[in-house]
Amino acid sequence: MWKCPFCGGSLGQPFQDSQLHGMLCLSPDCGRFDVHDAKEERFADWRETDL
Ligand SMILES: [Zn+2]
Repeated sequence: MWKCPFCGGSLGQPFQDSQLHGMLCLSPDCGRFDVHDAKEERFADWRETDL
């Protein structure tokens, strides 16, 4: 189960488009967006290759 890394809440809304993939926290005090780690790793690899 997903857990918000910012507030620790478990109420999240999955979100995905061409550039972003992750979970949007539905806690009224938080509302942060948690980007999935796998996507960030792919971006890191791509940037390393580009350099
Ligand atoms: Zn949160």
